[in-house]
Order: sequence, then structure tokens, then C-alpha cells
Amino acid sequence: MSAVRIGIDVGGTKIAAVVLDAHGEMISRTRVDTPGDYSSLIAAVPAVIERCGQAARNIMGVGIGMPGSQSPKTGLWRNCNMTFVNGRDVVSDLTAAIPYPTRIENDANCFALSEALGGAADGRAVVYALTLGTGVGGGLVIDGRVRRGPLAIAGEAGHMPIVLADGATPRPCYCGNFDCAELFVSGTGMARDHRERTGANLTAPQIIGVMRTGDVHARETFQRWVDRLARLIGALTNALDPDAIVLGGGLSAIDELLDALNAATPRYVFGQEAAPLIVIGETKESGARGAALLWP
Ligand SMILES: [Zn+2]
Repeated sequence: MSAVRIGIDVGGTKIAAVVLDAHGEMISRTRVDTPGDYSSLIAAVPAVIERCGQAARNIMGVGIGMPGSQSPKTGLWRNCNMTFVNGRDVVSDLTAAIPYPTRIENDANCFALSEALGGAADGRAVVYALTLGTGVGGGLVIDGRVRRGPLAIAGEAGHMPIVLADGATPRPCYCGNFDCAELFVSGTGMARDHRERTGANLTAPQIIGVMRTGDVHARETFQRWVDRLARLIGALTNALDPDAIVLGGGLSAIDELLDALNAATPRYVFGQEAAPLIVIGETKESGARGAALLWP
């Protein structure tokens, strides 16, 4: 029996798992609910792997993607929106609980890897991925390998500040800084911006729905959101000039997004000549698939 790789994506609500065969084909996948406490989470991951392993016994490696990263300074997990894992020794605890070689990586880095290897940015040398959901994640893949960096924060554009042209009062971010991109380009950021301007309490998908019925205020909220996202992508492009920028997360599914971004981005790119190549992620179970691909 040829060797398989198992990839796990630990999300806030679900743990997704996939099994890839020697050719990288997905031969099975499964999902379970994410437990709400640390010890249950550490127990749940090997249980999911066990379920996957019934399809194939020759497991060459397990990859796990989850929000946050291991601090190079303390070795402990940090910056995770599942706050109960922060300050815990996630890497040691998971590798001890899993009876196979295991690699653990930031989930947006796994998404970037999945799209760089067989996805929307397949074959591109420098791939930057941005996930736009409740929060904002970022990942960087160079020549088919995750670029993690000595501080383990490469690609974390969600916490780059966006300078707002209207001179708004600096807004504090949970990370300790002000005016981080995540506060504006996440789904919660779009919803908050709409609420502050109009008083209407809508979610990001609801705002888009209302915009499509012709609502002028929703259209303006969408345009402000696109403009801020374009500013972030412009800054990333000035720093990296990547071969592709891949968008993922729930907001990347907005049909109007790509045209609007391609129109808005060039003015924020040095020289103002062009936008970078922006594509929408297309791989299935991309977080879990990318985690499996940590084993090349
Ligand atoms: Zn921040």
C-alpha cells in the first residue's frame, strides 16, 4: 500500500481532515466539530486521524493547520482566535498525541500552499494568500514552500496598519496596535463600518445582498471596503511584487470583488501602472489539503 499524507485544518467551528495519496489526489475527507476546550481539542485531533487512517494505514506524515503560530521565543502558541490555545505548548502536545510524524503550521500558510500547488496560483513562484473572513489571515509561499520567517509572522498583513485618508481617530486592535487592516477588511470590519455610517446592523453577506437590490449605502460600504483592501494589496505588492495574490475566506466569494479590486488596486501600487495578478482560491478543503502538502 503506497504512502498517504493526512492534512488537518483546525478551525473555530470545524476540524476538517483530508487524506492525499502519493499523487496528491484527495482520497477521503471528514469533518468534526471543534471542541471548546484545550484538552478535548488535543484529544480530538488524533481521533480524527484515526478515522482517516482506516482508509489507508501507511501514513507518511500528518500536517496540521491552525490559526496563530508557535512563538520562536517561548515555543508556545499565540495569536490564535481560539484563545484557549494561546500560551499552551500546542506543538509538543499534538506531536505527543499523534503517533505519526507531524508538522504544524499557520492555517493561512496552509491555504497559500494549497493554492500554489495545484490551485489558483499553480506553478507561480511567489504566492501571497489573503483570507478574508471573520478575521484576516495571510500566508506566503515561495517556490512551493511556506515562508514562515524567523519571527513566524511572514504574511500577517491583517496586522499591517491601513492609513485612512479621512483622518479618522486611530482605532485600537486586539493585537495592541492601531488601525490594523483586519479592523477594516474583515467581514466584521465591513459590518462595523456599515453600522457606523448608516446605523443598520447587517452582516457582511447581508450588506452584499442589499447592495444587489440597489441600496446606495450598501454600495458605498462595499466600495469603501474594496478601497481599503486595494490599499492593503498595493502595500503588499510594493513589498513583495508577488507572482499571484490569492484570495480566500468567505468574502472572496463575492462575485463583484475581482472586477472592483482590479479597478481599485493600481492607484495604490507604486508607479500606478497595474494591479498584481489577483485570483480567487479554488482548491477544495484548501486548509486541510495545504496542511497535508507540508509533506512534499
Ligand atoms: Zn492588529
